[in-house]
Amino acid sequence: MPGAHARDADFVLEQVRQHTGWFARSLPMIASENVISPLARQMLVSDFHDRYAEGHPGKRYYQGCTYIDEVERRCNELARKLFRANQVDVRATSGTTANMAAFFALAQPGDTIAAINTAQGGHISHAKMGAVGLRGFNLVYYPFDEANMTIDAPLAAKLIRQEKPKACLVGNSLFLFPIDVRTISDAAHEVGARVMYDAAHVLGLIAGGQFQDPLREGADVMTGSTHKTLPGPQGGVVATDLPDTNEADQKFKKKLDSGVFPGTVSSHHLHHMAAKCVAFAEALDFGEAYAKQVIRNAQALAQGMHELGLKVLCEHRGFTQSHQVAVDVRAHGGGRHCAELLERCNVISNMNMIPGDQKATDPSGLRFGSQELTRLGMREGEMREVAGILHAAVAKGEAPDKVAARVSELRQRFQGVHYCYREGLPAHQLWEFLPVAR
Ligand SMILES: *Cc1c(COP(=O)(O)O)cnc(C)c1O
Repeated sequence: MPGAHARDADFVLEQVRQHTGWFARSLPMIASENVISPLARQMLVSDFHDRYAEGHPGKRYYQGCTYIDEVERRCNELARKLFRANQVDVRATSGTTANMAAFFALAQPGDTIAAINTAQGGHISHAKMGAVGLRGFNLVYYPFDEANMTIDAPLAAKLIRQEKPKACLVGNSLFLFPIDVRTISDAAHEVGARVMYDAAHVLGLIAGGQFQDPLREGADVMTGSTHKTLPGPQGGVVATDLPDTNEADQKFKKKLDSGVFPGTVSSHHLHHMAAKCVAFAEALDFGEAYAKQVIRNAQALAQGMHELGLKVLCEHRGFTQSHQVAVDVRAHGGGRHCAELLERCNVISNMNMIPGDQKATDPSGLRFGSQELTRLGMREGEMREVAGILHAAVAKGEAPDKVAARVSELRQRFQGVHYCYREGLPAHQLWEFLPVAR
């Protein structure tokens, strides 16, 4: 006999079924999302999910970790190779907890740190109302170069020399161009500050060698999410390549380690860890070709929209060198209106603040990412098609159901996942969910 709440369980199954079907006929273009490979997805439903493991392989607080340890050793090894770092912690359960772990090592409560303002593309975890505030840091913001959509590095270096923060955070959520990490880290190291590069958005591009190489450009630690441009499971990493030759660096690396465990996780998510291991192997084998195509696609999308008359940011810099494209849609009703309109056309994106905006809830911009469409096999030709679709919906006022039909027709040809093992298997396996309350 099903229990009294079996219908609630059925309700969930039905919502997930509807969602999966919707996304299979949509254009997923949110810059922080991706589609995991079928093999990595299998790890998420494995028995690893049900288990506990605290600490490091071979040094656990629980029994039953024989095979978990084997996988985690391999995961650590692949992570070090992929991110070209001598210490990578794969246990962080998200980019935000990776940042919190790093904050533990970077400075003490009451210390001042430097970061990018959220209004200029910084992340909420770098803000007073987010993890930075939770750790009790005071904040100074870098001067931002709005025309070039990046930190004004020479002015930032001046600020660092004046304010002498304990740590300098770089890395954005609206992230079109590499940051001049060298100029910032030279100033930071002069005043005894550590530099953290938050690679949440661009981790897959860095892994593929196509964006910048922060650990070689002076960053002491690089954090990131494993589910944005790096097409793995939800999770985070904390990576450093500091040598073990001096005491201060050794101490810092130990604090990074204890910042993750026991600082911000007890049992890390073992199914995610196994999926990370698969995703890292795939990134080592296919990541360079993938990252190159992601950037080419973002540039083709930007160029296509620009040619149709949409106001794509930063034309003079070639629009973008990442997976992201930012568009000023003030002339078309603003970011919120356009994002909602596009959703009715089955194009999934988000409103975003751009220079000049004051209100996060009513910004002038839209942000798009090319990474998931790239994983689905789309190339420059399709990006021009997508540009036409976006222009028709936002600027030409084409009816949403007509645009949705175009979206569906395009998407039908791109259902498989690429740049992974078992290439071409469907991204969204439509399981036959059996209802509980029969
Ligand atoms: C997305 C993001 C994060 C953290 O994201 P999680 O959702 O916690 O993985 C951190 N920093 C930046 C710059 C981001 O864009």
